Amino acid sequence: MDQQKQRIRDQAHHKVRKEFPGVAGSAGSNAPGIVVLTGAGISRESGLATFRDPDGLWAKVRVEEVATPQAFARDPARVQAFYDARRVQLRDPTIQPNAAHLALAHLAREHPGPVLVVTQNVDDLHERAGQPSLLHMHGELAKVRCLRCDEVSPFEGADLADALCPVCGARALRPHVVWFGEMPLHMDRIEQWLEANCDLFVAIGTSGQIHPATGFAETARAHGARTLELTLEATELTRNFDEARHGPATEVVPAWVDELLGAWVVHLSLIPIEEPEE
Ligand SMILES: [Zn+2]
Repeated sequence: MDQQKQRIRDQAHHKVRKEFPGVAGSAGSNAPGIVVLTGAGISRESGLATFRDPDGLWAKVRVEEVATPQAFARDPARVQAFYDARRVQLRDPTIQPNAAHLALAHLAREHPGPVLVVTQNVDDLHERAGQPSLLHMHGELAKVRCLRCDEVSPFEGADLADALCPVCGARALRPHVVWFGEMPLHMDRIEQWLEANCDLFVAIGTSGQIHPATGFAETARAHGARTLELTLEATELTRNFDEARHGPATEVVPAWVDELLGAWVVHLSLIPIEEPEE
């Protein structure tokens, strides 16, 4: 790596450690930066109903009734009730992070390069697994946003229609979830990571049908990253990845993380240890 590229890399790593203090990624390390995109497939094995499966939520409820701004304008109580039910399901004691969530948290803490998990899921299973670096591009079930003051607040209740904004007191809360027709969240930061911190892009448990996530692998590759797909079975997008491994997330993800961390233990034992510059 030439000096200028190394300097840009070091600055990016410094920013990462400020943004996500739990991430191992150390300045001066040549360990690859990793961006992981997770989708419904990783939560399914924790028992959460998914949206796109044939027996998933969209088979029982029509998208346009509960997951669009128009639906909320037309019948807010109906939409609130749908997300109240999802939130209650998430707090069922049987719903827990699984081996794939835990492996990704372990990866971010142990891998010597920066690691970011971007999730399409609105559950909090990555957080509960201890994921130190995480962006929810489609929002979070356990948060609400106020339509009057625009503040986002945690919300654990089961009756959002009756709840008041803890900041301004208005009865004007909506789920902090990105609906069809709305822009995903954190897109600028995700793009920055894909351009500056991503040597390896990994898609886990995502059908790849959701825009703009479909473009992430392309962006990463355009900036020199290798791409890996870890899904239950081949998808329409498999051929666009450099490598694909198929099987349950709870099996393929821990195996991949072990392999990657093992490889870096070997690699790091071969290079001389430098004193940190700070
Ligand atoms: Zn408010």
